[in-house]
Amino acid sequence: MTELAATIHRLQDRIRASGREITLLAVTKTIPPERVDAALAAGITVFGENKVQEAKAKIPLVSSRAHWHFIGHLQTNKAKALVAGVPNLACVETVDSAKLADKLQQAAVAAGRAEALGVLVQVNTSGEESKHGVAPSDAPALATHIAASCPALTVRGLMTIGMPDYTTRPENFLCLASVRDAVASALAVPPSTLELSMGMSGDFEAAAEMGSTSVRVGSSIFGAREYPAAA
Ligand SMILES: *Cc1c(COP(=O)(O)O)cnc(C)c1O
Repeated sequence: MTELAATIHRLQDRIRASGREITLLAVTKTIPPERVDAALAAGITVFGENKVQEAKAKIPLVSSRAHWHFIGHLQTNKAKALVAGVPNLACVETVDSAKLADKLQQAAVAAGRAEALGVLVQVNTSGEESKHGVAPSDAPALATHIAASCPALTVRGLMTIGMPDYTTRPENFLCLASVRDAVASALAVPPSTLELSMGMSGDFEAAAEMGSTSVRVGSSIFGAREYPAAA
C-alpha cells in the first residue's frame, strides 16, 4: 500500500470512530492532478478546490469519477467562469448572498447542466470579520431564497469554517448544528436531510462529534502545501 493510501485509511478510521456516516472530502489546492488520482484510487470520492483558475485547470486532468466541490470564497463576477469551466462541479459550498445564488442560477442555466448544482449556505459562526458567510440568523432567509427562486440549484446544507482554536471553543460547530434546525424548518424538510460541512485537519474529530457530515481535510492527507494558498 502507498503511504498516501495508508494515511487516508487511518483518517477514515478516525472519522468512523464517531459512529456516523461522514464524508472525508480531500482538499486538493496546490496538489497536482496525479496525486488527486492517487487519492481517488485510495478510496476518496469527493474533492475540494478553493480557486476558480486552479479548479478549471486541474479538474479536467483528474479522472471523471471524482466528485468536486468548490470551497473557496466566490466573487459574484467569477460564478459564470466557475460553472462554465467545471461542467462536472457537484457543489458550491460557499454561497453567502442572494446575489451570488442568482449568478450561479444564471450560470447553471447558461451551461445547460443536466443536473441541479448543489449548494451549501456558508455561515459565519465565529463572528470574525475576516470570515465570509452569512450571520447565523440570516441563513434561513438565504436558503429559502435559493429554494424558491433558483431552480437550477439545490440547497444541500450548510458550511462553516471554525476558528483556529475552535477545539477549545466548540460553540462554532454547535452553532452550525442549531442553524441547520432553523433552515430545515424554513425549508420544511427534516434536519437530517441537510449536510453540515465543518472540520478541517486541525479539528475534524471534534467536528465529527458535533454533527459534521463532511470534513474538509487537506494537509493531513497530502502533507504541508508547497506554496501558501490564500484562504
Ligand atoms: C484549505 C482548506 C481546508 C483544509 O485545510 P487543512 O488545514 O489543510 O486541512 C478546509 N476548508 C477550506 C475552506 C480550505 O480552504
